[in-house]
Amino acid sequence: MATVAFIGLGQMGRPMSLNVLRGGNAVRVYDVDASAVQLLVDAGAIACATPAEAAKGAEFVITMLPNGDLVRDVLFGENGVAGTLAKDALVIDMSTIHPLQTDQLIADMAKRGFAMMDVPVGRTSDHAVTGSLLLLAGGTAEQIERARPVLMLMGNELVEAGGPGKGIRVKMVNNFMSIALNALSAEAATLCEALGLDFNIALEVMKGTPANKGHFTTTWAGRVLKGDLSPTFMVDHAHKDIGLALDVANRLHTTLPMGAAAREIYNQMRAKGRGKQDWTAVLEHMRDASGLPLQVKAI
Ligand code: NAD
Repeated sequence: MATVAFIGLGQMGRPMSLNVLRGGNAVRVYDVDASAVQLLVDAGAIACATPAEAAKGAEFVITMLPNGDLVRDVLFGENGVAGTLAKDALVIDMSTIHPLQTDQLIADMAKRGFAMMDVPVGRTSDHAVTGSLLLLAGGTAEQIERARPVLMLMGNELVEAGGPGKGIRVKMVNNFMSIALNALSAEAATLCEALGLDFNIALEVMKGTPANKGHFTTTWAGRVLKGDLSPTFMVDHAHKDIGLALDVANRLHTTLPMGAAAREIYNQMRAKGRGKQDWTAVLEHMRDASGLPLQVKAI
């Protein structure tokens, strides 16, 4: 049993702190919203009037707050955690914040002799309730092992992200991908509707293709990630096909902004002489455009 301070008892923090409590730990809670604190107190947690009070005597201090400025304020502001934190305590920020802020917070804590790690979470508040969050653990290997028993009360899968600040970075990449894909999915669904297609039939088709499965483990695995750009499906054809969709959509006054951006990428690839390469060469093109060294010998 550990003493855990939990700061930020919202949609996520409330069920997460409840699970830490139910795991047999003493939980000291703080939130600016008194009703959020009361819910936890009713379940057996100890109410604290400030972040400093919550951190008193705690082995772990967990923050689950809306943004990085609030995390900084809770840690270093007036009546902040740093005022009472024990030198051997571990601060775990589980909020989704700017990675550069995470780095600065970890460095500022270290300057004062405190340890802090980033463990943002994947999935939703439903998973927070059932203790099945995806834990994206930054921090050192030692910090992860120390925090693991408490973390595993909130999640059922822990990914070691590769060091301090890497948890928040992998979370950011994952969110970038799924948020962008959400918008692209809406474009595809809207195009279906404009064409008078049954969405369920389109879904049935896409279920077995990279449209729904994604490219990382399907098309990329067999080609660009193996260093092979010989075409299974040529960039020239991809450029043509996305052009068909854009042209038809335009005639129907349907907007495909992400599709239009994608066509420009294939357009650039053709201009760079990649027209006859496999469409997965888009990874190499993007690396090139970002000034990263190419991995695959061009064909
Ligand atoms: P929320 O707004 O429901 O909860 C935030 C809580 O922080 C509130 O109870 C609020 O009163 C409290 N708070 C604000 N300022 C405070 C302060 N200075 N001191 C103490 N408490 C303070 O937000 P949430 O959905 O619980 O999200 C929390 C974090 O988790 C965010 O960074 C969010 O991006 C991330 N996240 C959310 C989800 C989700 O599905 N909701 C999933 C993964 C990650």
